[in-house]
Amino acid sequence: MKPSFHARLVNGPFEDPSLYVRFVRQGRALLFDCGSTTDLSVRDILKISDIFVSHAHVDHFIGLDSILRLHLKRETPLRLYGPDGFIRNVEGKLRSYTWNLIGDYPLIIEVSEVNEKLVKRAVFKAKNSFKHEDMGSTPFDGVLVKDSYFKVSSTVLDHQVPCLGFCLEEDYHINIDKAKLDRLNLPVGPWLGEFKNVLRKNMSDIVFKIEGRTLSFSELRDIANITKGQKISYVVDVLGSKGNINEIVSLAKNSDVLYIESYFLHRDKDKAEERFHLTARQAGSIAREAGAAKLTVFHFSPRYTDSPEELVKEAEEEFNR
Ligand SMILES: [Zn+2]
Ligand SMILES: [Zn+2]
Repeated sequence: MKPSFHARLVNGPFEDPSLYVRFVRQGRALLFDCGSTTDLSVRDILKISDIFVSHAHVDHFIGLDSILRLHLKRETPLRLYGPDGFIRNVEGKLRSYTWNLIGDYPLIIEVSEVNEKLVKRAVFKAKNSFKHEDMGSTPFDGVLVKDSYFKVSSTVLDHQVPCLGFCLEEDYHINIDKAKLDRLNLPVGPWLGEFKNVLRKNMSDIVFKIEGRTLSFSELRDIANITKGQKISYVVDVLGSKGNINEIVSLAKNSDVLYIESYFLHRDKDKAEERFHLTARQAGSIAREAGAAKLTVFHFSPRYTDSPEELVKEAEEEFNR
């Protein structure tokens, strides 16, 4: 199956957490946490439409300033999501700069903060010197973003402060059957992206012009096979409590990949509890219980700088048990 989105950790496992998810052929990307983003290119940063911040500890939030700076002249809104108190956190960052010369810049920042019950919204517009504009609140049903073919869900977890876990899920996956394409004598090309969009929106009256031929949607329908959509889950900075573990297992159920912190080795479990973090063994066991196809552990404590492989090994052993 050709994936619809590609995910990659921006930094190494001892550096700030950030997961960059690029949509294939859409010129769009999502970012889960924005620790240091110096390893992202300007091109990559300009593709980001939505940023999901687990919590505002500095290692998960410090990169927002450089992203904002590059987005100032963008016409499309930048959407940010975070836990309780997040609107105030974003406002604090914005207020720390002087904005007297941006009145004709188009950027609008839309911020949503969630608790177990509500999503509160605010906008900050460049033309209004990024002053806080309250947009009210709506009930939170677990879904932060619902787009034409994917959604991002979230759950509130406990890290002594509220910390959000996220999952990105494609509704279903469309595979193009190359043999059927050949039989119809049709080339691979950008028109397939348009065809997939039409299929997703169920607009069956659309006609396609491909290399001088005109084909109706129904003539083409058979080149697509529908399979289960991609699912990527992202969890950092949580206590290994029963409540958290149950929440994460249901959030990450049947993920293709679970990205999960492994801050401590299990032999340092007391330290993990004291700091409201997971151990590698807990991460492995959560991934196994969730039925994840793949586990990627990251966000390691600097105390293991000389032996990161121990954390990976402990998590993998538990995952494959
Ligand atoms: Zn952290
Ligand atoms: Zn933290």
